[in-house]
Amino acid sequence: MQVTPNGHEPIVQPRIGADFTDGKINLLGLSRDELKDALRDFGVPEKQLRMRTTQLWHWVYHRGATDFDVMTTISKDMRALLKTGFVIERPEIVEAQYSNDGTRKYLIRFADGNEAEAVYIPEEGRGTLCVSSQVGCTLNCKFCHTGTMRLVRNLTAGEIVAQMMIARDDLGEWENPTEGRMVTNIVMMGMGEPLYNFDNVKKSLEIIMDEEGIQLSRRRITLSTSGVVPHMERCGEEIGVNLAVSLHAVRDDVRTDIMPINKKYNLDAVLSACANYPGAHNARRITFEYAMLKGVNDSDEDARELVRLMRKYKLPAKVNLIPFNPWPGTEYECSDWKQIERFSNIVFESGISAPIRTPRGRDIMAACGQLKSASEKKSKAEMLREQAAANEAAKPQSAAHSSTGLT
Ligand code: SAH
Ligand code: SF4
Repeated sequence: MQVTPNGHEPIVQPRIGADFTDGKINLLGLSRDELKDALRDFGVPEKQLRMRTTQLWHWVYHRGATDFDVMTTISKDMRALLKTGFVIERPEIVEAQYSNDGTRKYLIRFADGNEAEAVYIPEEGRGTLCVSSQVGCTLNCKFCHTGTMRLVRNLTAGEIVAQMMIARDDLGEWENPTEGRMVTNIVMMGMGEPLYNFDNVKKSLEIIMDEEGIQLSRRRITLSTSGVVPHMERCGEEIGVNLAVSLHAVRDDVRTDIMPINKKYNLDAVLSACANYPGAHNARRITFEYAMLKGVNDSDEDARELVRLMRKYKLPAKVNLIPFNPWPGTEYECSDWKQIERFSNIVFESGISAPIRTPRGRDIMAACGQLKSASEKKSKAEMLREQAAANEAAKPQSAAHSSTGLT
């Protein structure tokens, strides 16, 4: 793998350990079919399978149950039996931080010790949960804190769904109200590139959208991508959620400098994929995210070029201008407020909506692009331990090889 502008190579780590606890299967993150199969394998009679699946699904995703004891629609004996094979387990919340603007950030530790963050942002009339799809990110956009993490692994579907469960636990949002919900929207805009973890993201969102569970409408879910062109169409067709695209520059040289993925999928490729996004029309506009970086992408000329591109590709678009959120060690500064407003006005005057996003949760490092977990440190220590263990394990083997003359 190539060294990135941040000067490091991301280490992609496989998921260690499946969703098992003491040999028991965690129900969180299983699709309906998988749940049914797990019950069948466990010995639930064929004629009960549909009913049991529906019952468990209701308790786990409609009521937020974490314990079989509360499942009063299931007989005591059956509950006792289920407990021997299954658990309903959330990952650990290592830290919950509350910003003075109401934003809540959860640092979540998964079974293998890796960590990711989820952020709840309350607004007038709605509440948005920003969900992570990976521990770290392989893409290393120069302005993004997550991109500086060395370690990367995909989150499982269970780990993605768990972020929603944890937020609803914390907000006291069970049993699944239909009116006055606190988490009304989800944005896949936390750590990681969701389209590099397509299958798990798809599965988790299907669980979250399920009509007998959490029931969040696909119209209330937005997936943000840095422009992984081959999966964009699939996202529209197979998941059907709203699309947000991290644009951040209107010229290929600038975009390549700040977003190395532009070398692979340049502006033309990304904008063409946007033009073909299934279901993209005025009622369902694509959102373009644009972080305002002082002296990099924020000139009047850039704003005019942005308008030209939106017209050229006939995009039903909305542009979200994000004042750059600083993090320790970054080389960038946020554009001057006056310039952000000028930029916004130029785009607005062309008839394209270009609101300036108010930064939320900056005091707890919860704003866009500020998320980073300590997984990096742990992984290094872990890797050293693993390496030592592997060396140890290799010793007798190499001795055996030399004794058989294989060396
Ligand atoms: N990986 C996906 C989704 C997560 S990032 C993507 O890149 O689209 C969510 C948004 O925050 C993206 O638009 C990202 O480019 C932007 N962002 C990253 N770092 C930022 C920063 N420091 N300030 C403002 N926005 C940032
Ligand atoms: Fe990854 Fe998105 Fe950050 Fe780029 S902006 S490094 S794609 S999380």
